Amino acid sequence: MSCSYNNSREGRESEFEQHSVLRKSVDSEPKSVSQNGSISSPQLSIDDNLLVDPKLLLIRSKIGEGAHGRVYEGRYGDQIVAVKVLNPGSTPEEKAALESRFAREVNMMSRVKHENLVKFIGACKDPLMVIVTELLPGMSLRKYLVGIRPKLLDLHVAIKFALDIARAMECLHAHGIIHRDLKPDNLLLTANQRSVKLADFGLAREESVTEMMTAETGTYRWMAPELYSTVTLRQGEKKHYNNKVDVYSFGIVLWELLTNRMPFEGMSNLQAAYAAAFKQERPSLPEDVFPDLAFIVQSCWVEDPNMRPSFSQVIRMLNTFLFTLPPPSHSISDPDSNNSATTSNRTLTLSSAPVKGKFSFLRQLFAARRTRHSQ
Ligand code: ATP
Repeated sequence: MSCSYNNSREGRESEFEQHSVLRKSVDSEPKSVSQNGSISSPQLSIDDNLLVDPKLLLIRSKIGEGAHGRVYEGRYGDQIVAVKVLNPGSTPEEKAALESRFAREVNMMSRVKHENLVKFIGACKDPLMVIVTELLPGMSLRKYLVGIRPKLLDLHVAIKFALDIARAMECLHAHGIIHRDLKPDNLLLTANQRSVKLADFGLAREESVTEMMTAETGTYRWMAPELYSTVTLRQGEKKHYNNKVDVYSFGIVLWELLTNRMPFEGMSNLQAAYAAAFKQERPSLPEDVFPDLAFIVQSCWVEDPNMRPSFSQVIRMLNTFLFTLPPPSHSISDPDSNNSATTSNRTLTLSSAPVKGKFSFLRQLFAARRTRHSQ
């Protein structure tokens, strides 16, 4: 599985509710503080060789919409592509913030290549801010899951999707990039609906600037509490977090792949954030989930980021689990068979493969909690 990175470039780089202990930065730019204490935003430019020729770009029907723009099906030369047209903003401050976000997204996307990351084709600055990528006609994972609800994904399919996501994230983290907005809306299915690719780098950041980053971000439901909660900060202390925020989000996504339910169902976004940060609540795992899978999910969303596994460890754990599963009873390679969904519950008949080392402590902790709850 190749994961490549182009380091030749210099360019770096919802739903919000205000609450006394939940904060977001109004200005989303990464800042550097000079010696005299003044704050400046780094220049974000787009290399000319990343630009597409607007004359060859044809925009057709709208296929999606996000908080920052619209996405259309289109054609670039002889390729069928997705064309994301970003909102220009109305005030000068908004315009500047959106232009920086655009440049950052283009620079991030153009630098990392992996089969589970949406492929960047090019960008256009004038007359509109446009990002051209490969088209993924299989819909978002969110739509797909909602479409088959209340059925569950076939377990092999769920694990395959989880592995696709973990591999994309492993590639980003290997190159020092934190995505910060991992959620089913940003995961797109390929045409045959057998693979998932990660899209939307609008909030992605380089790890090297994390200490300067603020908590302007995506949706609380999938966000690691340390991204938005100031509860553990002493006065004047800066917020620190690392790439383990993506592992937390992955834990929530894996839970959704296994349960096909909305995390923190019935709660508002703010209530979900409060429950996760202050009451250490997490979505509940069904009784019949395989212990090894329950362990992976719980270790990803554990409160202490340092106790969360890396994506390389997640991949190893998922693969180990996959080897313990009997082969699928039907061919999941037949996209027309509609067999990627199942109504049956997942039973606990398989033996658990031991996970050693750092995580044995977590495993014992979760096992003890489960025993306590079942008493
Ligand atoms: P937000 O910032 O709110 O997450 P956004 O404005 O950055 O959203 P995207 O999330 O990138 O926009 O895209 C919005 C929707 O457009 C996606 O949920 C998806 O349905 C569709 N979409 C985006 N990129 C592609 C693509 N390459 N192929 C097919 N559909 C796409």
